[in-house]
Amino acid sequence: MTKKRVVIALGGNAILQPGQKGTFESQLENIKITAKQLVSLVERGYQLLITHGNGPQVGQVYLQQKAAEKEGIPSMPLHACGAFTQGLLGYMIQQCLFNEMKKAGLKNNVATVVTQVLVSKDDPAFKNPTKPIGPFYSEDHAKKAMEEFGEVWKEDSGRGWRRVVPSPEPQTIIEIDAIKELLSKGTIVIASGGGGIPVFLDENGELKGIDAVIDKDLAAEKMAEEIDADIFVILTDVPYVAINYKKPDQKNLMNIKLEEMKKFYDEGHFKEGSMGPKVKAVLKFVENKKRTAVITSLDNALQAAEGIFGTVVSP
Ligand code: ADP
Ligand code: MG
Repeated sequence: MTKKRVVIALGGNAILQPGQKGTFESQLENIKITAKQLVSLVERGYQLLITHGNGPQVGQVYLQQKAAEKEGIPSMPLHACGAFTQGLLGYMIQQCLFNEMKKAGLKNNVATVVTQVLVSKDDPAFKNPTKPIGPFYSEDHAKKAMEEFGEVWKEDSGRGWRRVVPSPEPQTIIEIDAIKELLSKGTIVIASGGGGIPVFLDENGELKGIDAVIDKDLAAEKMAEEIDADIFVILTDVPYVAINYKKPDQKNLMNIKLEEMKKFYDEGHFKEGSMGPKVKAVLKFVENKKRTAVITSLDNALQAAEGIFGTVVSP
């Protein structure tokens, strides 16, 4: 019997909760809890591809780079910070999985693939950067960065100036064949962290990193299609997607058909920048693959993979 393939997309909250400082230890502690869940899936015979957000982490690394500039150490571009965090989080997830699997008597290989994701230079997102990164600065600082580095900065509702970067659509996962190869050998793969490192093809046909942030849920969907996942699971911090969210008539969605979910999406029930991209990713997977996708909270990973808990969207 071939094993069921699951793509699991972990939200940033799985690793760094709002209000936490983000020390190595606290992040590792959160990953440990998640790893236990993931190992229960491996025990059941699921083949896992794990992907994760990196918003809080990449923000931290970016700041560290900026701070080190004052010491004369050149700062690395944002796409390189993306690579740092893929490696860092991959390391932490690998270690926690190894330890938890050992307890469960499992011996699967686990590997992180530093993943580049191709975007198009013609993506309309490049004409309209929307994703704020890093801290707030003064107008002078912002103007200087705009002139000197050609960056885009925007004033954020009276709180100061922030750099904004484009959020283009993921087109192709560059390392996809290597990822498939690892999966086919039974390796648990961690890939495309933070939505992948955005790259484009320059005029000589060479890959080059570009400062942008690819949405991790959309990148995860791309991955789920590419590796022909049997089920696509997005784990976040709420057990269900809701309509009329946070209103007196809020209603949690459990089992729902594609068409109905699409209708709710078009009606604007899911917030841009949080639940919106998750629902968009799920709709795309169910529509294109004619298979089920689930959005739920972290502690329900196993039941989600079995399609028996959470917001379960079916064709
Ligand atoms: P992640 O780090 O997992 O990507 P996000 O914060 O981006 O998490 O998205 C999850 C959040 O989306 C939830 O904590 C919830 O507050 C918010 N949210 C917005 N709209 C909805 C909705 N319609 N139903 C449920 N949650 C929603
Ligand atoms: Mg998110």
